[in-house]
Amino acid sequence: MTTLLQEILDNNQAFLSQNDFSATISKYPQKKFALLTCMDTRLVELINSALGIRRGDAKMIQNAGTSLIEDMGETVKSLLLAIYIFDIKEIFIVGHYDCGVALTTSTDILQKMRSRGIAEQQLALIGKSFADWLDTYTDPVQNVLAVVKKLKANPFIPKDIPIHGLIIDPHTGRLDLLSDGYHAL
Ligand SMILES: [Zn+2]
Repeated sequence: MTTLLQEILDNNQAFLSQNDFSATISKYPQKKFALLTCMDTRLVELINSALGIRRGDAKMIQNAGTSLIEDMGETVKSLLLAIYIFDIKEIFIVGHYDCGVALTTSTDILQKMRSRGIAEQQLALIGKSFADWLDTYTDPVQNVLAVVKKLKANPFIPKDIPIHGLIIDPHTGRLDLLSDGYHAL
């Protein structure tokens, strides 16, 4: 039986024999923006095509739910790196309809962890952080607006960086504008 790992390695050999990606592309994004979106399976390939993003254009950050949980967590730190080291000039927050995070509760995930043998004393340590995240996240539109608001209030993000809020349909790729970052400047 072929494992998934072997399949991926085989795919890579086939890719290398058929493609030449050796041309140098800068790590500095050509379109000078950073995009925060969800890890949703349906966005793979779709989001790039739907937004017209090509290789080399943008810094892309993906997590579960287009979430921004901690004011100085990894998501914000990645954005700060994109701004101060990679010279991006705008931020796009792109959530999506039908996000699985909005449908998940802390009770769901803790119960699944419990059923896989994670100890109660361990679960007690993380219960609140999962509740603060998952139990308040019920609407992907509201989440995008909340993330935009949090970033605008972040004292480490320069005030001249527009922060746009958008939401994409994971079935069709249609993009809806929720918050135009230029208006806020
Ligand atoms: Zn999602």
